[in-house]
Amino acid sequence: MYVVMIAPECAPVAKVGGLADVVQGLSRELMIRGNAVEVILPKYDCMRYDRIWDLHKVFGDLWVPYHDMHFHCDVYFGFVEGLKCFFIESHSFTNFFNRGIYYGHNDDPERFAFFCRAALEFMLKANKHPDIIHCHDWQTGLVPVLLYDMYTHLGMTHPRVCYTLHNLKHQGVTGEYILRQVGLNPAHYMTQERLQDNFNHGAVNIMKGGIVYSNFVTTVSPHYSEEIKHTDLGYGLQHTLHEHGGKFGGVLNGLDYNAWNPETDPYIAHRYSINTLDDKYKNKEALRQRLWLRHDYKPLVAVVSRLDHQKGVELIRHAISYSLANGCQFVLLGSSPDPRINHEYWQLKHSLNDNPDCHLEISYHEELAHLIYAGADMILIPSAFEPCGLTQMIAMKYGTVPVVRNTGGLTDTVFDANYAHRPYHERNGYLFNDFNYQGMESALHRAIGMWYSHPQHFRELMINGMRYDYSWNHPGGHYINIYDYIKE
Ligand code: ADP
Repeated sequence: MYVVMIAPECAPVAKVGGLADVVQGLSRELMIRGNAVEVILPKYDCMRYDRIWDLHKVFGDLWVPYHDMHFHCDVYFGFVEGLKCFFIESHSFTNFFNRGIYYGHNDDPERFAFFCRAALEFMLKANKHPDIIHCHDWQTGLVPVLLYDMYTHLGMTHPRVCYTLHNLKHQGVTGEYILRQVGLNPAHYMTQERLQDNFNHGAVNIMKGGIVYSNFVTTVSPHYSEEIKHTDLGYGLQHTLHEHGGKFGGVLNGLDYNAWNPETDPYIAHRYSINTLDDKYKNKEALRQRLWLRHDYKPLVAVVSRLDHQKGVELIRHAISYSLANGCQFVLLGSSPDPRINHEYWQLKHSLNDNPDCHLEISYHEELAHLIYAGADMILIPSAFEPCGLTQMIAMKYGTVPVVRNTGGLTDTVFDANYAHRPYHERNGYLFNDFNYQGMESALHRAIGMWYSHPQHFRELMINGMRYDYSWNHPGGHYINIYDYIKE
């Protein structure tokens, strides 16, 4: 099969969060299974160019219709971890992708609407006729709409579209002008069955367009697929998902064990496996040395996260003082595009600067993240909601026990040491229900107690987590089935 991924992120070159890991990991899995896979991305100025191999221009004359103009683009090609990637560079005066950050501008809907049009225009001009176009999140939601509206009539009759929803909180709700910009007729599309937002009838909902016009829609875990259909976590798209329920399902994300594996990880101090688990503690020491933490007989609790309200920033703050007061060390690696949250965490960092049991690293740091997963005893994920969550799966692979809120993909992957309806050898962490201090404390308290009082049981939990197979093997098979199904 020939699959083209159109996405706003791909790890490790353009990564904000899990979406990037998914695009890279799923593409790689599809390739290993013998499919031809290509990825189309914007060419951002802030990408990790050091992680692209053999980047060169392959298409110098792409003119993309936009509003009543044509914007000139160059297309570059390069390999990312062996994956074939095309990068669209726009030369418009609007400087769409040279902004120093990936998201967070007022004209984000325009930037990515343009990207959708440019990706299809490139495929048309480059004569690409994939079996499947796989789009990700609202940023690419206009691809199936544009394909249906114009590109099938221009000869792209072949591709079928799979659309994956990574986070319903961000839907690309914007003015109807966006339709005109990309050449769609607002009179036709501004209806309830099509792209009109379910609440704000004057607005276009790009993610809704993606749902309506794709051949199949997935989200990133089975539990989240139910939550977004039946609760407020659908952020207004519940009804649309119900209407299109026949072509919608949850597929749990996988992890690329090529990138996340303590047996081969180049970024950790000492490699280890279940059989050499004691070597994990050499990483704990290395982490302590690197972050100026004292050597002591204490569990190390870690957070690796975007600092966003979704991730429970308030609870994380509380967890720091709770952990320090209850005999733990604490390490946080996180950053936020929201200056207020960043400022708060910088203040907290300054107030804890002299504490030999705590280090807050307010940044995005891919390599340090690996050492934290390897060196920590527990990872805390107190999310308000979590579509899938990769950090708990990464942590488990590294023998780090997850302490998480019972929501979304966390529910699908973490099974409580005390309360899970599963045999002991399948239990791998701690869950809490209530999104408040008491809820979180109840789980942290149990985890810390187990570490101190029953180290052998705690070690069993670590090993149980390491034994789980959260690779792309199973989800890769699910996606192939979906592709086969919509191709027929
Ligand atoms: P989300 O996509 O909502 O941010 P996920 O758990 O799905 O959350 O994916 C998060 C990914 O981003 C993981 O690979 C995690 O290691 C990485 N990550 C998050 N914050 C940081 C950071 N500050 N530095 C390095 N990596 C980070």
